Amino acid sequence: MMHEGMRFRLEGAHWVLEFAPEATALMCANAQTKLLSCEAVGQLYTRDLTSSSVVVEHATLLKPRHTCRGRVKFAPKAAYAERVELFRHGLHCVGIWHTHPEPYPSPSGEDRRLARDYAIAARPALSGIVFVIVGTQLPPNAFRVWVDNGEELHLANSTSSRYMDC
Ligand SMILES: [Zn+2]
Repeated sequence: MMHEGMRFRLEGAHWVLEFAPEATALMCANAQTKLLSCEAVGQLYTRDLTSSSVVVEHATLLKPRHTCRGRVKFAPKAAYAERVELFRHGLHCVGIWHTHPEPYPSPSGEDRRLARDYAIAARPALSGIVFVIVGTQLPPNAFRVWVDNGEELHLANSTSSRYMDC
């Protein structure tokens, strides 16, 4: 199987957001493409916060406290412990991802609150956090990416042109 990185851009922004193949592969592997598959959730990490392109090098899978086809809950304590652990290895958490059982996912009210909470908690180290929802289409179309700056949730546009196989 081939996994390519993906690139996204916010309108008007001069930085780009990239997903390394390893991170893309983990999210792809958990997409809800089967009828009974449950939502999955995890965090996104980068090594370098100073670069003009933010590269999500690593995606994790959090053990859900509760999951079903349309909803997933994780323990904030476990997410925090993971961030502390990976920070010791030079990885900074820049956001969160989860899956939806729909082709063209959009964030629920609960999702929006979660994104906002992450954005506010990440201040002042980060001016925004990455919020990914993985739908059921073939990548890169499966991926919808937003950035929450603590005040607004902005949709980022995919600039990936190459076909990916999940
Ligand atoms: Zn959701």
